[in-house]
Amino acid sequence: MSHDNIDLAEILRKRGYRMTPQRQMVLDAVCESGGHVAPERIYEAVNEKSEAVNRATVYRILKFLREIQLVTATASPDGHLLYEIASGEPHHHLLCRKCGADLELPNEHFSRLWQQLFSEFGFRVEEMHVTFQGLCADCQGGRASRR
Ligand SMILES: [Zn+2]
Ligand SMILES: [Zn+2]
Repeated sequence: MSHDNIDLAEILRKRGYRMTPQRQMVLDAVCESGGHVAPERIYEAVNEKSEAVNRATVYRILKFLREIQLVTATASPDGHLLYEIASGEPHHHLLCRKCGADLELPNEHFSRLWQQLFSEFGFRVEEMHVTFQGLCADCQGGRASRR
């Protein structure tokens, strides 16, 4: 899988940074994972390509890429961070803890909340990527099924 229509190197350049082979490998690994990938799996994918890149470097690059908002992260059920490429369209997840179904939730559900956080606390949300855990309609015994 490629980076589709987003040229990450170009975005990086525009933000004043260079694309390095290591950054490229980390971004590739995040892209190829299709989203929501644990840092350890990213490290493994990078390590397969180049054993010269160690774990600390991968984690540091992930942190950097998140800071410049090229990737976003959301908390997984076990409290770890899951990474994905920031597509420009903020979204959230409804994650079923039983069957693992992952429903994507558009950001519009929260636009009022972000506004309130700003008006009430003066807080400007930059990274919007939330995972809600629970049970999907099917896993509730079909009672709540909307199909
Ligand atoms: Zn996501
Ligand atoms: Zn389910």
